[in-house]
Amino acid sequence: MKRKNTNVPVKILVASATILIAVILIIVLASNHFLSNKTTAASANPTGTEGSDKNAKEKKKSPEEEKAEKKAELLQKADLLAAGYDYDGAIAALQTFDGYASDTDITGKIASYEQIKGTLVAFPVEKVTHIFYHSLIVDPSKAFANHETNKAAQGMNQWMTTVEEFNKITQDMYDEGYVLVSIHDLVKEQKNADGSVSMEKGTIMLPPGKKAFVLSQDDLSYYHSYTGYGIASKLIVDENGKPVNEYYDASGKLLTGAYDVVPLLDKFIEEHPDATYHGARGIIALTGYNGVLGYRTDESYKTQPADLNADKKQWLKDNPDFDLDKERADAKKVADAMKAEGWEFASHTWGHLHIDKVSLESLKTDSNKWKDNVQPIVGNTDVIIFAFGADLGGAGNYNESDAKVALMESMGFRIFCNVDGNPTAGPHFASHYMRMPRRNLDGYRIYMNSIGQEHNLSDLFDANQVLDKKRPPVKPLT
Ligand SMILES: [Zn+2]
Repeated sequence: MKRKNTNVPVKILVASATILIAVILIIVLASNHFLSNKTTAASANPTGTEGSDKNAKEKKKSPEEEKAEKKAELLQKADLLAAGYDYDGAIAALQTFDGYASDTDITGKIASYEQIKGTLVAFPVEKVTHIFYHSLIVDPSKAFANHETNKAAQGMNQWMTTVEEFNKITQDMYDEGYVLVSIHDLVKEQKNADGSVSMEKGTIMLPPGKKAFVLSQDDLSYYHSYTGYGIASKLIVDENGKPVNEYYDASGKLLTGAYDVVPLLDKFIEEHPDATYHGARGIIALTGYNGVLGYRTDESYKTQPADLNADKKQWLKDNPDFDLDKERADAKKVADAMKAEGWEFASHTWGHLHIDKVSLESLKTDSNKWKDNVQPIVGNTDVIIFAFGADLGGAGNYNESDAKVALMESMGFRIFCNVDGNPTAGPHFASHYMRMPRRNLDGYRIYMNSIGQEHNLSDLFDANQVLDKKRPPVKPLT
């Protein structure tokens, strides 16, 4: 019901835009008819010179036609912005139209946006929930094969979500009124006069009944250890400039398309522009040791130190044409295409370190590796998503005198994410940082909810409906 109500204004906007486009089309057709009549008359001219002038004129649009086209484009752009709850952006777009104030189509549209904007309410940022995934399983028969004896298959069953499960969750959450927001919609970084940074709560304005959520995806490197488990192999940029996956099916055939979170969610948002707030996308947590996004961008593939892992050695053997600069350039192209769509990036530490157990020295070395190997590809970030769901020094009370906290802040991190399955565990706002717990929507969590052993997903979806029938029972964590 809630969704239907909020869709009504969008439908009215779409309908009025359609009528307007139809009117413009009639005007354009009528003027073309007028021109072609004139051309026929001119072709009787024996010199032909005037005729060719007229032909040239026929191809060139009149200023009125150009203006009508521009207006239709702007109305369409504004409707898309408004669908994503960005009414100020929609109004600003329309105000770029020359003489908009005396155009009743435009002023009428602006008034309708203002009216809807007046009905929005602030969603409490303390109540924003944060869900996360790992890379999705495309082929469960490969991922879970021999799960009774194969430890890696057991890991796949516990930590991974299948494409089928992801698609059901995305649809169910949308139907429940969930709207994807950016983690940066929750909090704003303020530079103080003395150079220090303080964090202030952000404002999220949504229609009544809608609920904001943040989404992240961890370890989007397509690690060597994923090979053969029915998971995509990399992200590439397609001919339209959009990020899509490469995936080898069971017969070894290379397919290109939506086989993981990024392109699947992009596709869903394209079909449901009201699923996202101001064009937000998810946040990708990256390590660096196997490269990023399916590219072998780490310098170790080139320097090949003595302790190089066996899987890296094998990969280099299988890929004699490896060129570090090319891998990095290709990965950057993908990262740029993702950023253009609203995707954001976070550190997951270069070496997937347990932040609480690692020594300060190791953390410093690791930080430099992330800066050298990952940051040049994805850019600066103020978000760190801790590996293993660990946390820094305990429950969201980071002391600036703690050397690890100081190191994290010196690297520019102001948003810290741990893992907590409790649906009511919201973000903690401090003067100099925000800590946001995340909820794992993985095989373990979905399975435990589906058999009634856990009850911490029902605010998002029905685990019983979502659970992939091809997933074997998930053993409790040991
Ligand atoms: Zn991880």
